[in-house]
Amino acid sequence: MAWWNASLLQSDTQLNQKSYYEASVQRPAASAALRGAHTADVLVVGAGFAGLSAAIELAQRGYRVLVLEADRVCSGASGRNGGQAIVGFASGQATLEAQLGRADARRAWDMSLEALDLIDERIQKFSIACDRVRGYLHVADSPRKARALHSELRALQDGYGLASDFVQGAEVGRYISSAHYCAAGFEQLSGHLHPLRYGLGLAAAARALGVQIHEHSALHEIQRGATLRALTAQGSVTAQFAILTGNCTLTEFGPRIAPELRSRIMPVGTYIAATAPVDVAVRQRLLPQNAAVCDNNFALDYFRFSDDQRMLFGGRASYTTSTPRDLPEIIRRRMVRVFPELAETAMEFLWGGFVDISMNRAPDFGQRFAAGLQRRCARCRWRTSSLLLVRRPAAGLTPQQRASGQNRPGGHFPKCRPADSPARR
Ligand SMILES: Cc1cc2nc3c(=O)[nH]c(=O)nc-3n(C[C@H](O)[C@H](O)[C@H](O)COP(=O)(O)OP(=O)(O)OC[C@H]3O[C@@H](n4cnc5c(N)ncnc54)[C@H](O)[C@@H]3O)c2cc1C
Repeated sequence: MAWWNASLLQSDTQLNQKSYYEASVQRPAASAALRGAHTADVLVVGAGFAGLSAAIELAQRGYRVLVLEADRVCSGASGRNGGQAIVGFASGQATLEAQLGRADARRAWDMSLEALDLIDERIQKFSIACDRVRGYLHVADSPRKARALHSELRALQDGYGLASDFVQGAEVGRYISSAHYCAAGFEQLSGHLHPLRYGLGLAAAARALGVQIHEHSALHEIQRGATLRALTAQGSVTAQFAILTGNCTLTEFGPRIAPELRSRIMPVGTYIAATAPVDVAVRQRLLPQNAAVCDNNFALDYFRFSDDQRMLFGGRASYTTSTPRDLPEIIRRRMVRVFPELAETAMEFLWGGFVDISMNRAPDFGQRFAAGLQRRCARCRWRTSSLLLVRRPAAGLTPQQRASGQNRPGGHFPKCRPADSPARR
């Protein structure tokens, strides 16, 4: 038995074996695993959206960046997700306002707008073909949920200027052909894309900017001293800074990676099925705007059509590392409940992965990440729920910080200390 938690890693690897996304891309050959001693200004751990985005932004500013990836580029959540790029945060703005106050909640909202712009900017700048589509439909399946949706959309319109079209009853059919929903809100800031194509495009862009990416190179240990020393099975990296963007599995590779993060990570499994392609006319009837769709339930269904007209239907959260035994049947039932017309359509792919969520689904801007990075985060456009910047031995939280909840998931929005920014070469 290995010394890491084999069950999360095994389950995570197993869940990527029948992915539609993997089957629909041509990956380049794996890059060389890290061997021998290397140096960099900044070490990035994890080649998902967060790690690759950070690497690109830093390389564009002249830093020497080295990325370690335990498996393949975007083999984690970034290459498996629903592809839904949605403005705002899973917690909703009301939670952020209660926690941060109006001004910082607004800044967080603006970061989410900037993140969407950044996707389009990068698609254009790096010529990433990833089936980008605009249009998002938020749906409600009960009168109570319809009221909640209406009041949320009104608050977003009044407080944040988000224009959307709220419809009820028969009007819902303008956006989705499903008797399952009694209300819906449509907006066009959000949308969807093929996440693995996008991620592979980011990796190619990073490489072109001089970023060194090593796949099959798990970080096992990070030693914090005057400089940082990171160890893999066959190599080491000495760097001034490290950005840990390893999502749920980060700390599974060794007890000395970021022990302070372990208790803050809660892996939640979520699963997606892809049907065989349907007729274009069926797609146009079911979702006339070709929107990405989410319901507003706590354990939500999320779905959309792929570019080749497959229904990609996601849902069924799991709060353990085991995959639900009757998963294909569960997903099919949920999909047919929404679209009875797809009852006879074959399911050709089924995959899943883990998301690290915080207790209230607001981003967890941890204390170490906090130091100096919140403002840079807006400027450098790093956005993830599990990003940690490590610089020299870290001071623990003060009793005041602990008492104020800053060390808990969804803890306070940090104050800036720009002096903690990495020095440019
Ligand atoms: C099935 C599914 C559906 C989802 N749907 C959506 C959606 O529709 N919209 C949305 O906004 N979000 C969605 N999400 C969430 C979203 O995908 C993630 O929040 C996002 O991709 C996280 O990006 P990341 O770069 O932080 O992590 P990841 O993409 O998971 O990347 C982390 C990488 O770090 C590597 N790594 C970990 N530990 C180490 C180590 N010690 N050494 C080296 N490398 C390491 C991993 O192998 C992995 O490649 C979904 C997630 C899943 C699983």
